[in-house]
Amino acid sequence: MSEQTKRIAILGSTGSIGEQTLEMVRTHSDRLSLVGLAAGRNARRLSEQAAEFGVKLLALADESAAAQAQVPGARVMAGATGICELVEAAEPQLLICAISGVAGLRPLLAALEAGVDCALANKEPLVAAGAIVTDAARKSGARLLPIDSEISAIFQCLRGENPAEVEKILLTASGGPFSGLTADELQQVTPERALDHPTWKMGRKVTIDSATLANKGFEVFEVHWMFGVEVRQIEVVVHHQSVIHSMVQFQDGSVIAQMGPPDMRVPIQFAIFYPERLANDLPRMSPADIGSLTFARPDTERFPCLRLAFSAARAGRSYPAVLNAADEVAVQAFLDGRVAFMRIPELIERALEEHQAFEVRTLAEVEEADRWAREHVRGLI
Ligand code: NDP
Repeated sequence: MSEQTKRIAILGSTGSIGEQTLEMVRTHSDRLSLVGLAAGRNARRLSEQAAEFGVKLLALADESAAAQAQVPGARVMAGATGICELVEAAEPQLLICAISGVAGLRPLLAALEAGVDCALANKEPLVAAGAIVTDAARKSGARLLPIDSEISAIFQCLRGENPAEVEKILLTASGGPFSGLTADELQQVTPERALDHPTWKMGRKVTIDSATLANKGFEVFEVHWMFGVEVRQIEVVVHHQSVIHSMVQFQDGSVIAQMGPPDMRVPIQFAIFYPERLANDLPRMSPADIGSLTFARPDTERFPCLRLAFSAARAGRSYPAVLNAADEVAVQAFLDGRVAFMRIPELIERALEEHQAFEVRTLAEVEEADRWAREHVRGLI
């Protein structure tokens, strides 16, 4: 092991971001050593990954799946607490957080409290518990590094800049696969159609969130918490080509944009090796082939999830945790064929309207709001 080898662990290793991170580990095997892997229930894939990379510390959230993971010489921890135990036992220098949903919150906090730097793809913890997460990082001195391409773009635009000189964040959105559909057509969208995203190959939940624009709303929370920018300073801009990954406007009117091919391996690599930019042979962007770039305002009439996210972000207290949990339940119900596509924003809006908000200062209070929203939305369905 060379002196420069970085010890990394991946939570959500069997998913889209997890697999692309493993590709980076293969490519840069001289610089990285993998010390822990965790996932939800895919014991077969987790076992294959452990065998390939010789990882001895594993965890699966699903206890019966954990019993099935057979890796000679490896310790397999089980359940949500098993994932936190893995973080502690593996002692990574960098934790890749790529679990889907708020399930990633507890292990993220465990890592931050232990002073471990975290590269964050998993945005739901920042939606539900942004203040708690950023406080934990501040207290221990652990760094939060973005993987999400838009947030990575902003992070890169802010390099070397004075944060006090930022006027506005221009958060770009591909618009999702349905930006051209009418309100009536949106009523007919099926899970199969929604899962077919034009630009990114992602997990099921984030793909649906991209189609409803809830994902863009969640990124508003990421920007707010990661960069300490006020919600009113964040503007969403629809940019169909997904070439500009976001922009920062400064108080002198200058705008800095970060561009690149729409390939998650670029921001993943940047987060892993930050502040270094390592050479790679990933595809390059060709401006002449792209031709022109377009920009437009988002339509929050047809895509109310974005409006709901902005209002929950402004309202604060327990509303963001309710927004997140209501979305998780509504998206799952849509994927299961139990509700129509446009019921997703309806259910979130009902949950937000019918919620009696309270102050959220602790993890227990976040979980209380989360539980209330899940039960409430299930009742509405
Ligand atoms: P996937 O659905 O592809 O993967 C999710 C991963 O999380 C899988 O490894 C899954 O394990 C694991 N998982 C699910 N539930 C649990 C649980 N309760 N406990 C532990 N592990 C669990 O999602 P993505 O990789 O697409 O996305 C992951 C996160 O990154 C999301 O928050 C998403 O918003 C964010 N993101 C994704 C991007 C992308 O391009 N994919 C871009 C930017 C952000 P198993 O398969 O075994 O069930």
